[in-house]
Amino acid sequence: MTQAKLLALDCTPPEVTAAKARRLAVRLYGIDGEAEPLYGERERNFRIRAGADDIILKISSHEEVAEAIELQASVLSHLAQADPSLHVPSLRKSKNGRDHETVQLDGHRHIVRAFRFLEGELLEGRTPTVALLRDVGRTVGRLDRALRGYFHPGAGQRIAWDLKCAPEVARHTPLIADKRVRQLVEATYARFNGSVLPRLGGLPGQVIHNDTHPGNLLTDPDRTRVVGLLDFGDTVHGARLLDVALPAAEVTIAGVSPLDCAAEILAGYQGINPLEEDEIALLYDAILARHAQSLTILAYRRAHDPAAAAPLATFERHSIDGLEALTAAGPDRALIRFREAAGIGRTITVPLPRLSPETAQERASLMARRKRLLGPDLELTYNEPIHIVRGEGVWLHDADGRRYLDCYNNVPQVGHAHRHVVEAIARQAATLNTNTRYLHSLVLDFAERLTALMPADGGLSVCIFVNCGSEANDIAWRMATAWTGKRGALVMDQAYHGGTEAVAALSPYHVHDGLVAPHVRKLEAPDTYRGRFGAAHEDAGAAYAADADRAIAELDAAGYGTAIWMVDTGFTSNGLINPPAGYVRAVADKVRAAGGLVIADEVQFGFGRSGSHFWGFDTHGVIPDIVTMGKPVGNGHPLGVIVTRPEILAKFAKESNYFSTFGGNPVSIAAGLAVLDVIERERLQENARTTGTLTLQRLSALMQRHGAIGDVRGYGLKFGVEIVSDRATKAPDQAAAKRIANSMRSHGVLVGTEGAFANVLKIRPPLPFRSEHAEILTGTLDAAITSLT
Ligand code: PMP
Repeated sequence: MTQAKLLALDCTPPEVTAAKARRLAVRLYGIDGEAEPLYGERERNFRIRAGADDIILKISSHEEVAEAIELQASVLSHLAQADPSLHVPSLRKSKNGRDHETVQLDGHRHIVRAFRFLEGELLEGRTPTVALLRDVGRTVGRLDRALRGYFHPGAGQRIAWDLKCAPEVARHTPLIADKRVRQLVEATYARFNGSVLPRLGGLPGQVIHNDTHPGNLLTDPDRTRVVGLLDFGDTVHGARLLDVALPAAEVTIAGVSPLDCAAEILAGYQGINPLEEDEIALLYDAILARHAQSLTILAYRRAHDPAAAAPLATFERHSIDGLEALTAAGPDRALIRFREAAGIGRTITVPLPRLSPETAQERASLMARRKRLLGPDLELTYNEPIHIVRGEGVWLHDADGRRYLDCYNNVPQVGHAHRHVVEAIARQAATLNTNTRYLHSLVLDFAERLTALMPADGGLSVCIFVNCGSEANDIAWRMATAWTGKRGALVMDQAYHGGTEAVAALSPYHVHDGLVAPHVRKLEAPDTYRGRFGAAHEDAGAAYAADADRAIAELDAAGYGTAIWMVDTGFTSNGLINPPAGYVRAVADKVRAAGGLVIADEVQFGFGRSGSHFWGFDTHGVIPDIVTMGKPVGNGHPLGVIVTRPEILAKFAKESNYFSTFGGNPVSIAAGLAVLDVIERERLQENARTTGTLTLQRLSALMQRHGAIGDVRGYGLKFGVEIVSDRATKAPDQAAAKRIANSMRSHGVLVGTEGAFANVLKIRPPLPFRSEHAEILTGTLDAAITSLT
């Protein structure tokens, strides 16, 4: 049996003048009015302006299959019955009472029909609103719901726009002139024809509209609602999901990612006529295939009938942009986004492929060498350690090419291997690297920029540059003892401030027997979830701060006095708590009243992470006497900074004659300057605020559904998720937290554990963490917790 010709590759609309159309309308329909030509791919269309009797007159190509013409009449009358509120065209009977008439033109028989004119504004050439995208999804959803169970033999027409015919159309891919576009189209067809098309047949199928593009959509003047869906000329029997893929490819908003636009349309459709998971799994490839099909048909027409190519060429850029953006987003991200939009995103995770045998062997050998050369006690993160070879933005890549979303590391504050930072380091390293005993402008530029970021009235105007956070805190401690003449220190219970001898004494984090050095006193963590005073307490800040009175009195009694309160402004090792209002300020006041200095350790929370402020101390409304920095300041390049008041520095300098060989070297400083540039240019602090808010909402939503989450807290891009075995007793579940972190790691998302009971999930991603990353994080966390049971 020979196959019927594939329609719509070639366009053969009949030659009909406006005058002729007008005469036809009078003769066949008794309607007279000016005939205005409209675009039609395979037919000649005219609007006949006749007041209340306005019609669209369609004169079809002689190639058109009669059954398909009948199908259109049949579909429209079915829809009028099944869902009369759907705004679709209706046929106007001819003078003879028929749905269509036949006329003889150029020696061919042509079918003529008249449709009643539908009011509304054509979307083509106008920008949709997000609300409209949803309504497009809803409209097609209603249409498909109304067509469920409907059939007509004309739906078997073979047209090039039907993705079932993609293999036939794909044969013309070599006609695409642009090599890069051709390659993208080839890759799309390879996936679609190879592994998607064979699966479409097994999915829910029905008669579908198959052509929801802006030229077939009428909207209200605000472009928020669909008031008409036109043109059932491409209607076929096919996979239902294609009726979502079509508008998802065609109806987009400039400046909004095609993935987000598609997700909105899908969300609208799901509300009416939900696709199943198997269908959603193929949506991404179907959208890409539609773009590939458009570009191939355009190339075919360019080669065979340039006049017919012209109307399509206007959409070429749209298809190329869509193809590129979706290809760049990749199937995994798209699937997560679509499942999320469909309300099933919560459980999606993308399991990582297994390690190749070679990589597994290489990893085992690295572990053995590491044990031998670095000692057996150096901790490795995760049960199955990761061998990372490359980083980029919020992503880390392992030796097997697997990708991990980094939700843990705050050192790469502006993203792993940020080009601006990398180039700044490389450029300076290729020019000069010396020390601060020579004149150099960069270090002064950096000092100026850092101190300009300090509160205007705090006097924090001078810097010392060192090599890491520990060293910064070590110097800060020495400065404070020199300035105050006292020897005692207050730190938070569980605090970690670094590894030098002096600073290790200020870090009860690793002290297992609860004892600290005699000159150090720990302050009770102001933890409103787990501590003595809850969020409902009338002044939990003051209640917790009272512990400082006890500690200061003890240090006085022991003869040390209070030289400092050193505090991590993000309260990271206390389980990333948000201290109650007024707490930091109240303790700072008590310490100052006792003659001590307040040292804000910004190693964790500085550099815009809070979203609301550049420095963590600002979020607490306190101006410290000394500020210390590490980790994010160089985005991974070793760099530490101490900023203080000139008089404090002067006293220390006189007593110590301090100098650091590497501290403040131009290469490190170039890194620091580049980090500040990127935070500013990429508005990363603002991103921390907006994405942080969204992420916190998503994490809190998980808590509604999982009893294992006892508390969710966050500020900017810093979150703590308490894992408990019993929400009522708040019993910490360290083992479960560990299993969750390991499970997430095996699904390509990195988080850590923290807190006095190591049961708090520690989430602290690089700042270019966006909403799509938040979705991956929460979807994977959801699945990890679900798999606990
Ligand atoms: N302060 C805080 C709050 C830290 O978290 C750390 C490191 N985890 C340090 C200081 C020490 O920094 P470094 O490891 O660069 O010496």
